[in-house]
Amino acid sequence: MAQDAQAPVMTGDDKPFESMMRRFDIAADILELDPGIYEYLKTPEKQVIISIPIAMDDGSIQVFKGYRVIHSTVRGPSKGGIRVTNIVNLNEVTALAAWMTWKCAVVNIPFGGAKGGIKCDPSRLTETQYEKIIRRYTANLSEIFGPDKDVPAPDVNTGEREMGWLMDTYSMHVRRTETAVVTGKPVIMGGSLGRREATGRGVMIVTLAAMRKLNLDPKQSTVVVQGFGNVGSAAAGLLQAQGCKIIGISDVTGAYYNKKGIDISDAMAFAAKNKRTLAGYTHAEKITNAELLELECDVLIPAALEDQIKPHNAKNINAKIICEGANGPTSALADPILQEKGIMVIPDILANAGGVTVSYFEWVQDRMGFFWTEKEVNERLERIMLESFEAVYNTAMVHKQPLRIGAYVLGIDRVAQVLKLRGIYA
Ligand code: GLU
Repeated sequence: MAQDAQAPVMTGDDKPFESMMRRFDIAADILELDPGIYEYLKTPEKQVIISIPIAMDDGSIQVFKGYRVIHSTVRGPSKGGIRVTNIVNLNEVTALAAWMTWKCAVVNIPFGGAKGGIKCDPSRLTETQYEKIIRRYTANLSEIFGPDKDVPAPDVNTGEREMGWLMDTYSMHVRRTETAVVTGKPVIMGGSLGRREATGRGVMIVTLAAMRKLNLDPKQSTVVVQGFGNVGSAAAGLLQAQGCKIIGISDVTGAYYNKKGIDISDAMAFAAKNKRTLAGYTHAEKITNAELLELECDVLIPAALEDQIKPHNAKNINAKIICEGANGPTSALADPILQEKGIMVIPDILANAGGVTVSYFEWVQDRMGFFWTEKEVNERLERIMLESFEAVYNTAMVHKQPLRIGAYVLGIDRVAQVLKLRGIYA
């Protein structure tokens, strides 16, 4: 199953929404946001909770819970993935929806933010049951979704296959084939070339941009990547192609270290033959996840779980750059510790925005009915990621803040400006 990251574990000091709000509050102070605008932007526009009753293979009925939170449509239709995990909850989905709003604004694409969730463990379901769940979730939200309203995409435990089912179900309901209702579809049914590795490619592009700022030579640099899903494995492979030495990787089965470097295509081929896991990988030494995060390296890429870098381990991080491939891998309480240590953190809402950027390209191509080459997709992605990196960097410099706050200030200001121009209807 293709996936944008691995399932999160909630062990943090803050819940995700509180973690998002701590950064939002700092940015709001810097921007001197009007209290009414502050209240407007912090409140999700819509939070929908649905039941998903499914007839299981043995004839019994099970009822799952589904969520779709639309945080903002101020800048355009809301955009964001659907995650399927057994711990997903409203607080998490609401935080992730708000992060999508700021992320789309940081890369300046005409979307607001949303997120969806289905509470279940997909590894315990047969393919038929999983398909029923995705289809019933889509059917129940068919009035919410729409190419001009709310456009879902892959996230944890969802990929091309699930987006294909979603597109078909929605199309059956509206009685026409509507490819632009969802992104991250298989290329053959209206997906975009380059979408699958877009998040990892974006991570690679901004990592190289940060290295240039710090005068680090990729060919002399070491990289550690946590998570070997769609984001982590692509980022690792692409950075290796740029000459970086990948000394550590990990997945749910543990972490793997080799100071001479790990051949990422070899590790990918191993995982492909091994139920998509690195269990038993012998070309590296097995270490713990905690040890992986504290390895001495130039770049650390958390591309797996939320809330991985927290006050207790932030002080031991031994990297010059942290590039957040996952959403929310650093708890807000760890931010000042990393800042104190002088680590450059490329925040999630910039670092992993390559995925939604190519989702935007997919939506544009579907609406035009005219498709681009992979080279065109990658060049346009690179331009947007580099411009966004510079915009975040400059905003941070102007306000003498870390890049994370620079990104929040830039994103929130863009949404607030449009909101002021649109005004409040009624
Ligand atoms: N789930 C991805 C994210 O968190 C992609 C969202 C999209 O493409 O709409 O950015």
